[in-house]
Amino acid sequence: MTAALPALVLRRRQDRRLRTGHPWVFSNEVDTARTPLTQFRPGDWVNLSTQGGRLLGTAYVNPNTLIAARLVSRKPDRPLDRACIKERVERALSLRDRLYARPYYRLVYAESDGLPGLVIDRHGEVLVAQTGTQGMERLRGDIAAAVNECLEPRSLVFRNDAPARTIEGLAQYVETVIGDPPGSIQIDENGARFEIDPLGGQKSGWFYDHRDNRARLARYVRDARVLDVFSYAGGFGIQAALAGAAAVVCVDSSAAACELAIRNAELNDLSDRIRVCRDDAFEVLKSFLAGGEHFDVVVLDPPAFARRRKDVKAALEAYTRLNRYAMQVLNSGGILASASCSSHVDAERFQEALRAAARAAGRELQILERGHQAPDHPVHPALPESDYLKFVIGRVVMNRDW
Ligand code: SAH
Repeated sequence: MTAALPALVLRRRQDRRLRTGHPWVFSNEVDTARTPLTQFRPGDWVNLSTQGGRLLGTAYVNPNTLIAARLVSRKPDRPLDRACIKERVERALSLRDRLYARPYYRLVYAESDGLPGLVIDRHGEVLVAQTGTQGMERLRGDIAAAVNECLEPRSLVFRNDAPARTIEGLAQYVETVIGDPPGSIQIDENGARFEIDPLGGQKSGWFYDHRDNRARLARYVRDARVLDVFSYAGGFGIQAALAGAAAVVCVDSSAAACELAIRNAELNDLSDRIRVCRDDAFEVLKSFLAGGEHFDVVVLDPPAFARRRKDVKAALEAYTRLNRYAMQVLNSGGILASASCSSHVDAERFQEALRAAARAAGRELQILERGHQAPDHPVHPALPESDYLKFVIGRVVMNRDW
């Protein structure tokens, strides 16, 4: 039987990584003499083929990027159509149904859920999707229809405003394709309520990846003075206050984030224990240091410092400096909860930055727990970049007390 889709032929031995489970083909692995990438438009479907004509599966192509093709099925002639997307969304949903009693989570996490280039967060009745590749961009109509059939959401928004889209040659925009989402909705996490803005908030409006880490911190915060740096809508700080912290200071440089944190403190009846401060994280830490102000727990959850591989060195320096300041504003024996969401900085290098920070701060660091992204962000075992979130809880003791 002849295949329906055109072939994209790989160079000799360049099928090995795919066979071991990896879902990407890089442009230098394509036999462009036999199958020039230029004959394809971004998002076109192909069957990946070995030199000998063995078909390895179905992929979509982008002839203009380093990642030339992304595998969607190990079978040939299986492009993602509405039915197939629906099947995958249902499979993704069945995992989240098993994990969570309430409908607030990441519903689809790209390659890890068999939908490369697509992320969907579910804030109850409001779904926020992001497409990050030309292939997925072309499927927006089918994605909307499939999601509608599975969940009948009140609204679906494409928050396609991530700067990373330019790598794929995609424009930045926000578009509502189902319903009319309100500017403010409430979600539920670990028993706390949060008001978020799905249209104007950061990313999809909420960072579900830290759900378990926010819960993990609860046992360390009773009666503590907590500093939540890079607090966004107050995810860590508010949950710490609910878990018994005596006082919480949230710090974020974004005015919109600070407003959300203030509203969320009110929503959870915590206004008397939470102070929100709009400022630069480094400046705030330095001024606390200069003023001799100390905390029992410091949370650091900065944005990705290394967005590209070449940023890694500068990112490690920034992590080290930030964590040094945090350790210095901690009382001796205090708790540092420190995160990194840069996929280019692996757990080992992040720990190395923490070690260096402790030395520079004149502190001993005891690592107590390590967390990572919640299970609604499944890790693809062949894609280290899908395993991006590091979270370390440590106790920090002054050298002179050791
Ligand atoms: N901890 C949050 C998520 C943090 S996202 C949660 O649990 O949901 C990173 C946050 O850092 C964003 O809200 C962003 O506005 C803020 N930010 C970025 N650069 C900053 C800086 N230099 N100083 C303070 N906040 C910063």
